[in-house]
Amino acid sequence: MAHEVRAVVARAKGEPVTVETIVVPDPGPGEALVRVQACGVCHTDLHYREGAIGDEFPYLLGHEAAGVVEAVGPDVVGVAPGDFVILNWRAVCGTCRACRRGEPQYCFATFNATQKMTLADGTELSPALGIGAFAERTLVAAGQCTPVDAAARPEAAGLLGCGVTAGLGAAMFTGGIEPGDSVAVFGCGGVGDAAIAGARIAGATTVIAVDLDPGKLEWAKDFGATHTVDASQVDPVEAIRALTDGNGADVCIEAVGNPAVFEQAFFARDLAGTVVQVGVPSPEMRIELPMIEFFGRGGALKPSWYGDCLPSRDFPMFIDLYLQGRLDLDRFVSETIGIDGVEEAFHRMERGEVLRSVVVVEER
Ligand SMILES: [Zn+2]
Ligand SMILES: [Zn+2]
Repeated sequence: MAHEVRAVVARAKGEPVTVETIVVPDPGPGEALVRVQACGVCHTDLHYREGAIGDEFPYLLGHEAAGVVEAVGPDVVGVAPGDFVILNWRAVCGTCRACRRGEPQYCFATFNATQKMTLADGTELSPALGIGAFAERTLVAAGQCTPVDAAARPEAAGLLGCGVTAGLGAAMFTGGIEPGDSVAVFGCGGVGDAAIAGARIAGATTVIAVDLDPGKLEWAKDFGATHTVDASQVDPVEAIRALTDGNGADVCIEAVGNPAVFEQAFFARDLAGTVVQVGVPSPEMRIELPMIEFFGRGGALKPSWYGDCLPSRDFPMFIDLYLQGRLDLDRFVSETIGIDGVEEAFHRMERGEVLRSVVVVEER
């Protein structure tokens, strides 16, 4: 039996999103039907609506979600009806060359549900990042569901599905931050603030937040930044050196996705230091560096896919840290809104007024 539910759809490039009735099939083999409780509004949803990711309209938006599994299809193990889950967009295959060599966080063949959700007239929907969770129910691959402690608040837990996990992992895993390290984080939105929180959990003693917006630098302090640099007023490379005995930071995390910012991160690190690139660039961007500086400074330049996180390993750990009061996920939730509030939330996000607006789909 298929389910008719309300959902947020982007029908055409650049047009405001609309709340529509969609049809969600019952789960087939390897699939799970999830009753969505909460879903965060991410820049990536806006990029879909703007046509910046693809042209496969209509898109079913929403991908930072938590909810309860309602039903699973045949051959599903590891998740069962009634489980409280966080959805992820990297369900690992277990058989590709990355998975076979024991590095499933790099899985090269992640997958989604096989069956399609549709508009009421049968038009197939493209779910954002293979999830589509601004919806009362959604259909995903069972591997996209990670069960976690149900004591967590869905509005906060769902944010681990995307940007917050990318930032935490960029610091804790890709950056390999160790106790006593100095860290500089460029860009203090949701991903950057999560990187600041991750640096603190990993034991960094100097955590420098860099942004052009004084308001965002205030947020960064709340997440654990020990120093702030307003890059609209001072040269961030000079400022970071001044805060690190003239040396530069051990780890610089670029959470913007911009060549000029990457270059600042490159030059703001200490010799043999690490640059982590977690901000997502657009296709036309280029970086140009003196090759002798690349060689002469040593260290590592590391892109970070999803923070090198593995949802099955890391979501339960992050939720434990949250429930212990050591990771303030609630602070990322700037406001809660209804399912009809997504278009307005996009505008607040564009104006830099919120870290995350979170759609409460179903009150717990
Ligand atoms: Zn794989
Ligand atoms: Zn996202």
